[in-house]
Amino acid sequence: MIHARSVSGLLLLSTLITGPVLAQKRPRADSDYERPQAPAPPSLPATLLQELVAIRDAALTDDYAYRQVAHLTENIGPRPVGSPQAQAAIDYVAGEMRKLGLDVRLEPVQARHWIRGAESAELVEYPGQVAGSTQKIVLTALGGNHPTSPEGITADVVVANSFADLGRLGRQNVAGKIVLFNVAFDKRKADNGYAGEAYEEAVAYRALGARQAAELGAAASLVRSVGGANYRLPHTGGSRAADIPAGAVTSEDADLIADLASQGKVRMHIILASQTAEEVSTFNVVGDLKGSEHPEQVVIVSGHLDSWDLGTGAIDDAAGVAVALEAAELMQQLHLRPKRTLRVIAWIDEENLGRGHLEYAKVHAAEIGQHVAAIESDLGASHPLGFRAKISPEAAARLQPVLEVLRPSGANLLLLSSDTPEADLDPLAKQGVPVLGLLQDGRTYFNYHHTAADTLDKIVPLELRENAAAMAVMGYALASMPDPLPR
Ligand SMILES: [Zn+2]
Repeated sequence: MIHARSVSGLLLLSTLITGPVLAQKRPRADSDYERPQAPAPPSLPATLLQELVAIRDAALTDDYAYRQVAHLTENIGPRPVGSPQAQAAIDYVAGEMRKLGLDVRLEPVQARHWIRGAESAELVEYPGQVAGSTQKIVLTALGGNHPTSPEGITADVVVANSFADLGRLGRQNVAGKIVLFNVAFDKRKADNGYAGEAYEEAVAYRALGARQAAELGAAASLVRSVGGANYRLPHTGGSRAADIPAGAVTSEDADLIADLASQGKVRMHIILASQTAEEVSTFNVVGDLKGSEHPEQVVIVSGHLDSWDLGTGAIDDAAGVAVALEAAELMQQLHLRPKRTLRVIAWIDEENLGRGHLEYAKVHAAEIGQHVAAIESDLGASHPLGFRAKISPEAAARLQPVLEVLRPSGANLLLLSSDTPEADLDPLAKQGVPVLGLLQDGRTYFNYHHTAADTLDKIVPLELRENAAAMAVMGYALASMPDPLPR
């Protein structure tokens, strides 16, 4: 999830919208009992509301999405862009869309295929070292990184606690060394509902650290894993191209190295022998359920099909693709035909350079004005709380009756954000398309994110059904409301 938007380091400015009084300022506590007259609540046609309830109820008893995630993860497996598994997943999803009666296209995308190689590390010199011993370090290469030679490199380690800290250390302390960015993921934020924000703060070092270290002549760059659980699992992820090797050590190993480095000289040997990325042809999978009245108007429901290679990409993001597929499956099952085109997209290359969504925006440039809204699910498959959206307050008001349909399953929050909620929706949002990201309970997502533990067992079937309900209800509402959502 959320890779491209992450590098800004900007905090998300969110506004909590919970009731019908939307654009108005809530009065201070002392006048709470004299609230201004609420405007008449927006309403939807009774038939549409009945259809939304039917979709919700059908989703909550439907195991379609779970079967899709199971196939993508257990039968196909990890899906790094350009891999045979990614292609198998593309073919599979296209086949599923055809079975659902969608008009399916494979839209070509050029992406970079990077293959993980041997990776290992050990401390070979450190304060208090016992004669004849070394200390194993658990690490993994970051995607797209520059490899070491097969023999690896040995260099002194320098620890930086921030970019500013790196700047203070300067070239004289950094050149020729292995830099470790030791910035912890803030679990308390995640535990309190700000998992995305905690991720944003830490992930800047994974995305940009190697490049900054390289500018000061570093031999390699390591980052403390960006993740919420300490099971000594390294979390991989994308790193902006830098001409030095880049990896992630576990949080436990980051603590060990930082502790030893505070006492004296630490020297480390690392092997990160990946294969340099090559350009390959791959595809976004795009399937249209054509609208009855306004087929030219498009509402996107989506997830991303590529995944990292360490796990099987269940929560990131087979779940997102599966619930998007299920939105179409439910409409077919219930014989509902939206007024506008419901477009299911399985994006490719979200985890690397985002070439899938960039290419989509290019190829569909002429129709972006007819894109009414776009939804993506890319924060896992835990219980959904609602949506994070970059939409106008007026649009938020229009969605209140839809959120009421989702209230019984708890997915009725609408947080307005000034930032795009999901990376794949960014080019659309920049052109004014209203975009929504499913907002899941993110407390455990980053425990497994980009690790070997992102596997099918992390998905609770009931919670996945709740996600499918939220995606399908919102997708159908956006595609069938009397007027398109205002921009
Ligand atoms: Zn993702």
